[in-house]
Amino acid sequence: MKTSSGVRSQKSEDRKIRNWEDKKIGILNFSTSQLLNFTLLLFTFHFSLSLMGCAKKYNMYRESRILMDTFCAITVVSPSKEEAKDAIDAGFAEIKKLENLLNYFSSESEITAINRAAGENPVRINRETLEIIKKAVEIANLTNGAFDPTVGSVMRLWGFSSQDSEQSVPSEDKIKSTLRLIDYKKIKINTSASEIFLEEKGMELDLGGIAKGYAADRAIDAIKAKGIKAALVAIAGDIKGFGLKPDMQHWKVGVQNPRPEGNPPKSPHSPLWKRGVGEDFKGEQEGLSEEDIFATLYLKDKAISTSGDYQRFFIKDGKRYHHIIDPKTGYPAPEVISVSVIAPEGYLADGISTGVFVLGADKGIRLLESMGLEGIIVDANKKIFLTKNLKGKINLKKELRNG
Ligand code: AMP
Ligand code: MG
Repeated sequence: MKTSSGVRSQKSEDRKIRNWEDKKIGILNFSTSQLLNFTLLLFTFHFSLSLMGCAKKYNMYRESRILMDTFCAITVVSPSKEEAKDAIDAGFAEIKKLENLLNYFSSESEITAINRAAGENPVRINRETLEIIKKAVEIANLTNGAFDPTVGSVMRLWGFSSQDSEQSVPSEDKIKSTLRLIDYKKIKINTSASEIFLEEKGMELDLGGIAKGYAADRAIDAIKAKGIKAALVAIAGDIKGFGLKPDMQHWKVGVQNPRPEGNPPKSPHSPLWKRGVGEDFKGEQEGLSEEDIFATLYLKDKAISTSGDYQRFFIKDGKRYHHIIDPKTGYPAPEVISVSVIAPEGYLADGISTGVFVLGADKGIRLLESMGLEGIIVDANKKIFLTKNLKGKINLKKELRNG
């Protein structure tokens, strides 16, 4: 059990935060895999302040739920519990709506309808689904196909999701024969008719690499529409914040150490993992202590997204197989172990972090800098790469520094 003062102080801060749904946090005890994507630790400091003679006291209110197969937390700064609750509900409603539209595993979702009709007919879909597919194609173009939302058919072979019953290394032949079904250029978008057509039978959209960042964007929009002036939405490792906390500071986030010392990453289904997030950290929804963090930074009206090889993986014959697939090979991308991207919008941070994970450190940093985005990459030797524009804005721990 982690007992650092950081954890203790966070616990006492958390107690001060109004939380109407403590019981929901209990769900985490049996849904451990849903936490795997939660790579960023939110430091929540609770202060009250009177604004320039105005008597209103601003507090932080937070609620967490399991949505999109993972752990989501919304924190808002508000003068009243009722207003906060209303805004938080609106934020979660957006995430839930997107979950229903985009869930790859649900027979009811629009993504499933599109996948079923692949090679046969276009499918008329909701504007929101059309919008995110357009954004996914935009990221595919920006990353030259390193991010490809048509990875679904190959992802299915590996079975990395908590909803897949089996995880195994597919045969080389199977991967080769399925690879031809990955090609984002074969997604035909008819905007005026709001239709999507996948040109090849067997092609499958999988928006797992962009959906959470996009949902964070939409949740923030819904919260702003309620008149809230500062909030943070965290959907696993996809976090977006705006405004200032009551202490007039920006939101501070931490990036998870992909290889924490003395606590080697185990299979997500191992007892160690269960103990780590389910019991020892009861009430600490983020499931991380300061020891698990290798970098911290302030989020100034921006989003951050982390892709890591420790989020969904299995180990077979001593080799780690993780969930970010190189669309060129059909195998897990081998060069890096963690990528965090900071961008003005969540969908961009999310999609680009997945794409950069495939591209590797050199090409990844070049792409990020050409786009004016900030990023942190840890390669397979634990060497850290930062975009130039991030230097001086990030607090890095020593251990990882020299690999
Ligand atoms: P993330 O955690 O945002 O990096 O997303 C990882 C998820 O994106 C995986 O679980 C897959 O659903 C999907 N995915 C895996 N490889 C790719 C890829 N090369 N391009 C787009 N999506 C991918
Ligand atoms: Mg992503």
